Amino acid sequence: MTDAAKKAPVGYDDTPIIPGSCWHVHDGDRPQPRVITPPTASTQDAPGAPPSDAIILFDGTSLDGWRDKDGNEAKWKLENGYMEVTPGTGDITSKQEFGDYQLHVEWASPAAVKGDSQGRGNSGVFLMGLYEFQVLDCYDNPTYPDGTAGGIYGQCPPLVNACRKPGEWQQYDILWIAPRFAGDSLVSPAYATVILNGVVLHHMKALQGPTQHKKTTSYEPQPATGPLKLQDHKDLVRFRNIWCRPLTNYDEVAAE
Ligand code: MG
Repeated sequence: MTDAAKKAPVGYDDTPIIPGSCWHVHDGDRPQPRVITPPTASTQDAPGAPPSDAIILFDGTSLDGWRDKDGNEAKWKLENGYMEVTPGTGDITSKQEFGDYQLHVEWASPAAVKGDSQGRGNSGVFLMGLYEFQVLDCYDNPTYPDGTAGGIYGQCPPLVNACRKPGEWQQYDILWIAPRFAGDSLVSPAYATVILNGVVLHHMKALQGPTQHKKTTSYEPQPATGPLKLQDHKDLVRFRNIWCRPLTNYDEVAAE
């Protein structure tokens, strides 16, 4: 522990209690926020380092954290620090499951432009395995708006199209609140805040249910956690630097 950390924190105990908490305003005894090392920025040449408390889902060296739709080893291509869809091998899912969390995923559609609309650089990031945030080469490639990159597929287009050129690495940062159920009843829907390449595409947007193709949707009871799923849409989309941070509670005391 550093000298600074040992020093009694400056605070007040003669101030009112903050409603909804057990702490005084400016309470010096309130637990210090956990100290973490923040991430470093990715470049087109190399991914940045994840924050120190992240769960690493893919660091470019192994597909061990993933499986295919039958529960077997993921068969996507692994090379040069990224994974690439191997068309026809199917979607892959993370072995770990998450509820409320912060997700970081980087992806690149093929540099060689082929196809149009939904047929160009299509993949997807499915939170809880059910809710697709579209991955698509949307650089100069109009498609139905709720299928644009960053769209909540079939439900809501992104606020803006913030796509980089094909072949360039793009960064998704998604804050996810899982839906809540009481028995068979929906208590609160899923909410997503989505940032693509540093630009907000959705802010606390309520989802209508699991995303669907050519259909509306609604909720049915589901487990509190689910895996991350990446889509094989038969295009050679690449992914790198995938990490997440389950959302914790305020005032958690740091482990010694
Ligand atoms: Mg897709």
